[in-house]
Amino acid sequence: MKYDFVVIGSGVSGLVSAIILSMKGNRVAIVEKAGQLAPVLKGFKRCGIYFDTGFHYTGSFARGEVLDTYFRYLGIENNLEKVVYDQDNFDTLYFPSDGFSLEFPSGYKQIRQRLHEKFPGEESAIDYYLRIVEQEFNSSPYLNLKMDSDETGFFSKYHDISLKSFLSGLTGNSRLAAVLSMHFLLYGTEPGLSSVSIHAQVAGSLYESVHGIKGGGRALAEALIRRLKELGVDVFSGRDVSRIVSSDGRFTRVLLDEGEVVEAKGCVSSINPVLLMSMVDESAFRPATRRRFNAFEHTSSAFMFSAAVDHLPPILTRKNFFLCPDLELDDYCSSERHIENRPFFIAACAQKNPDSKQGLIMLCPGSMSEVFAWQDRVPKNRPGEYLEFKQRLSQRVKEHITAHVPEIPDSLEILDCATPLTFRDYSNAPLGCLYGIKQKTGQINPSPLTKIKGLFVTGQSLAGPGILGAVVSAFLTCGFILGRENLRQEIRQCL
Ligand SMILES: Cc1cc2nc3c(=O)[nH]c(=O)nc-3n(C[C@H](O)[C@H](O)[C@H](O)COP(=O)(O)OP(=O)(O)OC[C@H]3O[C@@H](n4cnc5c(N)ncnc54)[C@H](O)[C@@H]3O)c2cc1C
Repeated sequence: MKYDFVVIGSGVSGLVSAIILSMKGNRVAIVEKAGQLAPVLKGFKRCGIYFDTGFHYTGSFARGEVLDTYFRYLGIENNLEKVVYDQDNFDTLYFPSDGFSLEFPSGYKQIRQRLHEKFPGEESAIDYYLRIVEQEFNSSPYLNLKMDSDETGFFSKYHDISLKSFLSGLTGNSRLAAVLSMHFLLYGTEPGLSSVSIHAQVAGSLYESVHGIKGGGRALAEALIRRLKELGVDVFSGRDVSRIVSSDGRFTRVLLDEGEVVEAKGCVSSINPVLLMSMVDESAFRPATRRRFNAFEHTSSAFMFSAAVDHLPPILTRKNFFLCPDLELDDYCSSERHIENRPFFIAACAQKNPDSKQGLIMLCPGSMSEVFAWQDRVPKNRPGEYLEFKQRLSQRVKEHITAHVPEIPDSLEILDCATPLTFRDYSNAPLGCLYGIKQKTGQINPSPLTKIKGLFVTGQSLAGPGILGAVVSAFLTCGFILGRENLRQEIRQCL
């Protein structure tokens, strides 16, 4: 069977790409290494409790906002039930050193007012910061669909300015700078390296509106997969693409690890672009391109603790909690620090039965170097020392969290600890990175086009991390294939 397109990887960007191409009448196949589609989104169960992995909440999902519009275009909106986050406090940022906390409300006006109250004397810095975030967010044609054309250059001057230098130019108040940059945890690039533009894309979407989805990441995965099936996309799951073959500079087929071949006229790869280099012929890319790709840095990895509590504390009901140590901005991603000195993101997981035990996850930055000793062992064959390491870490985290977040009960029971090895093995992410390649100041991340005709790339490493970034990258890539302006005009009809 020869397809029009084969899509490699069934994360959000791969699924969305397959849906768009199929909606346009193409015969599409999707190949996923994991045994199930959308492994990052789907989450997992421990002791009968469901835990979300790759999706907890998102911005820009209210009616008429950009993510809502993309989902309408894809035809999945009726299968998703939005959960509106607490509009007065979607994220609590808490600094245990002096008990300072800031409750982020939704909406620019409300955020401005809250920040003014909390940081008297910093009004002009706050106003300037919010103005630039809003302006940057709205200057991207893929985030602001009301813009007439997508020809407005993709990079602004804020692409070259780091969040840290931008904030230090605005204020000498380190607590304010920490508060404004804390959402960097959602894109995994430290404020000294990340551009103002990528920060604005992620934080700016949350400043518009904040939602979860009933049923969590699994419900989103299921809605996408249902649409995929309606459109007749062929699925090859549990199959690892080992080779991308081209002939005379044009893509011809992919080879799967068991010797299977999937032939197609075109290919969209949604895997980490650095991995692509080892899958194509040596001569397919210029040495300079290979060097450029191999030099891309990966975003941070993490430790993720999945825990059960008898009842969800109010601080986690339709809101998340950030436990913030006092650190230099550049130090936030550092894994040199004891785990007790790292920032933690704490979120509740979608649970069907409110009367049963509830699940929550606690996520902090981590690095492959911390689990280096076990990196060559396959998941089911890791030695007892690895399990003991995870148990010790879990015990410390339990003591740390219950000591510093009194609302979380002592009955907190940590059921599982995912490490950078887990993230690496779960989704074939180099070094276990959570958000693909870093989006650094001045760096041009891969574009959808490659030198091999018919081979395109997509995924969070291109346009930006998170569900929104992955969806945008799929539309960006499909725009290159189907005609950007036409696709854009069709999406705009769903506004
Ligand atoms: C712990 C965690 C929490 C998160 N929380 C949020 C959140 O609350 N909100 C939010 O918006 N975002 C969140 N994210 C980020 C979001 O999940 C990602 O940005 C998004 O899922 C990336 O989608 P993607 O399609 O680019 O990549 P991926 O989902 O990584 O998709 C790539 C796919 O390719 C497959 N693959 C790799 N190699 C091969 C191969 N050789 N052959 C075949 N298949 C292959 C992988 O198995 C994978 O399924 C979170 C991420 C993590 C890890």
